[in-house]
Amino acid sequence: MPAALKSFIEVAPESHFPIQNLPYGIFKPAQGAARVGVAIGEFVLDLSVLEELGHFESSEFQNRRVFSEGALNAFLALGRPAWRKAREVLQHLLAAETATLRDDAALRGRVFHARKDVTMQLPARIGDYTDFYSSYHHAHNVGTMLRGPENALMPNWKWLPVAYHGRASSIVVSDADVRRPHGQTKPPDAAAPIFGPSRSFDYELETAFLIGPGNVLGQPVPIDRATDHIFGLVLMNDWSARDVQGWEYQPLGPFLAKNFCTSISPWVVTLEALEEFRKPLPPQDPEPLPYLHAASDFTYDIQLEARLQTAAMNESHVITRTNFQNLYWSIAQQLAHHTVNGCNLQPGDLLASGTISGPTEESRGCMLELTWRGAKPLTLPNGETRKWLEDGDGLTITGWAQGDGYRVGFGEVAGRVLPAS
Ligand code: MN
Repeated sequence: MPAALKSFIEVAPESHFPIQNLPYGIFKPAQGAARVGVAIGEFVLDLSVLEELGHFESSEFQNRRVFSEGALNAFLALGRPAWRKAREVLQHLLAAETATLRDDAALRGRVFHARKDVTMQLPARIGDYTDFYSSYHHAHNVGTMLRGPENALMPNWKWLPVAYHGRASSIVVSDADVRRPHGQTKPPDAAAPIFGPSRSFDYELETAFLIGPGNVLGQPVPIDRATDHIFGLVLMNDWSARDVQGWEYQPLGPFLAKNFCTSISPWVVTLEALEEFRKPLPPQDPEPLPYLHAASDFTYDIQLEARLQTAAMNESHVITRTNFQNLYWSIAQQLAHHTVNGCNLQPGDLLASGTISGPTEESRGCMLELTWRGAKPLTLPNGETRKWLEDGDGLTITGWAQGDGYRVGFGEVAGRVLPAS
């Protein structure tokens, strides 16, 4: 059914933004304030204008104006009935057979902006940010480096989705440069720690989901209601200073190694758009405790890649090829676990997957694993080698679900490493 859906806007088959997708973002046109748009082909559709014209006046929107704001939070708070209605309205307005926009050049001029001419901003005011650790292969590889293969996984890992609370204030949108941080590190052979720029700067290929309606403090979200609270997904790069992390992380977990910058992609792909790419969550062993056990839990078939571009390279080189299905814990389990103690999530909160590594070498989602902590440097096509990211290196993460003749894509999250100041 969705494959038959066609827009009057021409969209190339490899485009990430066909009518089947319609991801939401906050864009700032050349003139005027930031507002809500959806991506379609090479364009952004301005929802604030459509709202002004009365296209979102049904009961699902509760008489609220949500699309002229510079953040998605008000729309997120409305919940799935409004999200579904908006998708229905937009797919109708953009359909090949609908004349409203197609045949009105003046209106088209008001509602469509070329994507290349707008500036993307963070999609939401992110109040709180949590990063999980949900890829078995990532946890196993890292654990093997630290403790050996026998003790690779901590005893809790298969019983609960391990996570830490991150820092929301330093989340930035794609294309922002990231500065190599200073920090305290302790070389293995040194008697005392040293201070200086991180010498093992890394990326982490991740996805993250945005919370819609929150839950009341003290009231957990049962796992079978978890997706009511999940609006959509973005790509994420959790920049990491491994040498800082190695010295600081015990016993309370990551701190300054992670909170200096985290990059996300600007377009939020909704669960509605991902629906047809759902796959059953593979069986878990041991079977999780009842509060983590959903009637029918699911994952998504989303292909993910990371590309490295050094200053000396003519074109970027793919260093990670992985898939969202490599996550052991589902997004529903992550949300149910996060709230099981009564912790309240709020619209715009961001819950990230953790590095998504798979079973093969090329599916490792960070330099730490790809080079085995620097022991096996990567050799790039132009002969350069890398143990870690160097100043001037650009790292781009992209991802898409492959449909029949179209892609439901995430665009990308990119960033370049600047030298320490
Ligand atoms: Mn991470």
